[in-house]
Amino acid sequence: MRKIVIAGNWKMYKTQAETLDFLRHFLGLLSETPDGREVVLCAPFTALGALSKSLHGARVKVGAQNLHWEAEGAFTGEISGPMLRELGVRYVVVGHSERRQYFGETDETVNLRLKAAQAHGLTPILCVGETKQQRDAGETESVITAQIENDLVDVDQTNLIVAYEPIWAIGTGDTCESAEANRVIGVIRSLLKNPDVTIQYGGSVKPANVDELMAQPEIDGALVGGASLEPESFARIVNFQ
Ligand code: PEP
Repeated sequence: MRKIVIAGNWKMYKTQAETLDFLRHFLGLLSETPDGREVVLCAPFTALGALSKSLHGARVKVGAQNLHWEAEGAFTGEISGPMLRELGVRYVVVGHSERRQYFGETDETVNLRLKAAQAHGLTPILCVGETKQQRDAGETESVITAQIENDLVDVDQTNLIVAYEPIWAIGTGDTCESAEANRVIGVIRSLLKNPDVTIQYGGSVKPANVDELMAQPEIDGALVGGASLEPESFARIVNFQ
């Protein structure tokens, strides 16, 4: 059975105080959220402790935005799986396009991070997606196929979420047509060994388009950037119709 997972990716936004302020508004908006929908907030490392403490007993799970593949060592500025687990983290975004683009992440390091997440009891959310240039050149399928094949070498597909995030749709307001997102996610599913992997769509998901996206048969959830920063808009997305 595929699980529906709606995850917010806060990127480099929100201090601890802002996190607590968000929760004060957000948690009260989830009383109507149907059972069986997993709600996740992927916050900056500095807010994870506050988030975990405040979410104790709540239905919202804590996620991080990256992890290093070693459990400890001389890796200045990095954070490891055991450190995240200690803070109550359950999910971790791996291979986000901003990490690949600005911080030199490769399929090889993404693969190492995925395996480390699983080894430490975390569920990784693997992001894949093509640039506008690659889409215009008709390379969407080949780019996605290479990412899935290279990133998932020796990765356990029973503890994995994949997010299809066309790069041209991230933070641009330019959402991928829901039928096209559905089609590409179908391609991703055909490349996986486990048909029950949750596959999210991400890229300018908003209250105004979430219902249509989530009505698509292949789409099992959403990874939401900008619209997850504001309690009302993220709650509307979580409570999609
Ligand atoms: C993201 O950061 O993964 C994302 C999809 O951002 P946005 O929703 O702002 O496009």
